[in-house]
Amino acid sequence: MKRCSSCGTYAEDNAYVCPRCGAPLGAPQQAPQYARQVTAPPRQAYYQPEPACCERNNIVAGIFALLFGYLGIHYFYMGKISGGFICILLELVTCGVWSTVTFIQGIVFMCMSNEDFNRKFVQTSSTFPVF
Ligand SMILES: [Zn+2]
Repeated sequence: MKRCSSCGTYAEDNAYVCPRCGAPLGAPQQAPQYARQVTAPPRQAYYQPEPACCERNNIVAGIFALLFGYLGIHYFYMGKISGGFICILLELVTCGVWSTVTFIQGIVFMCMSNEDFNRKFVQTSSTFPVF
């Protein structure tokens, strides 16, 4: 505890001004070690987001899926190379019906947030994420 020199009120050690009269209380009386502990970096510093290199833009992927979905361009863009080939194969096997699915995928990509898109389609271990 610290004591205000002007009014005698006790204040917290980390307080810089008196809670009652507002007079400056000076530096904390604790050892510098403790002071450093109190001013530790905020928690979020330990939770770094995924590096930008692994992220893709959901709007760009959506446009690719809408325009060139049958060619699997959006899968190649998302880094899912085998997924892209599966896409082309499905297009051939279904005689073009598959492009309806990729068209819907394009809309889904653009409607979801970029974070959701990256988590569900780019940073997933799945080789062929559909929805
Ligand atoms: Zn005071």
